[in-house]
Amino acid sequence: MTAYRLTELLYEGKAKRVHATDQVDLVAVEYKDDATAFNALKKAQLAGKGELNCRISALLFEVLAAAGVPTHYLGLAPEPLAANWMLVRPVRVIPVEVVIRNVAAGSLCRQMPIEPGTPLEPPLLDLYYKDDAFGDPLLTEARLERLGLMNADQRRELERLALQVNAVLTGLFQSVGLRLVDFKIELGITADQQLVVADEISPDTCRLWDEAVADSNDRILDKDRFRQDLGGVVEAYGEVLKRIQGVCPQPRVHR
Ligand code: 5GP
Repeated sequence: MTAYRLTELLYEGKAKRVHATDQVDLVAVEYKDDATAFNALKKAQLAGKGELNCRISALLFEVLAAAGVPTHYLGLAPEPLAANWMLVRPVRVIPVEVVIRNVAAGSLCRQMPIEPGTPLEPPLLDLYYKDDAFGDPLLTEARLERLGLMNADQRRELERLALQVNAVLTGLFQSVGLRLVDFKIELGITADQQLVVADEISPDTCRLWDEAVADSNDRILDKDRFRQDLGGVVEAYGEVLKRIQGVCPQPRVHR
């Protein structure tokens, strides 16, 4: 028996549904099998993806918690909810996507004269305005200030947290032969005004390359397999889960 009851659907995104519960400090996140890319112009159903992303996110949130990075994660959901459900603290999500790049790939190489695969040292940190209607545009310092999305202290804290997430996850993935090329995180503010990592961290939101594979397509173990029609998306996500399971704390179940 669970000590809470699901109430209304708060929000449905492209890859997750967020449900309220009868406890004000508890929100349930349901990871969907829907895959979308290019601002949802490309769509598919990939059986098993929701569960894999939920489990991978849970493991990565456990590792971040152990490293002292605050997140919205409380634990996996107990039965009768299925294995694609996670329990989190409610937050006000800041509509900013924080992207950290350790290796040049994706939009960076389409927008700048930088060869794909170029190592970026120090890592590049970019902020994007999270709004599909505008195509998630790159934010400048001045635009961020104009939109009033966060104050200077929150901005500094956000960047500090994002770089800490990068340091922790780069080391973790490296230990299992994976290169963390880049990733996107979202941050939220809790009821007690704490800035925390929210949303998910999974192969949907990270680029991960198998270090042992030289071929530039075969090494991809993330959503680029879907974006580029390479096939084997769920298998690649399964491989990521299999590798990190051995080096992460067992995900807690929040009761
Ligand atoms: P890029 O800017 O190259 O498209 O993405 C950089 C990194 O951030 C990639 O790992 C990509 O998966 C992630 N990312 C950026 N924007 C989004 C987004 O709107 N949704 C998801 N799922 N990932 C994103």
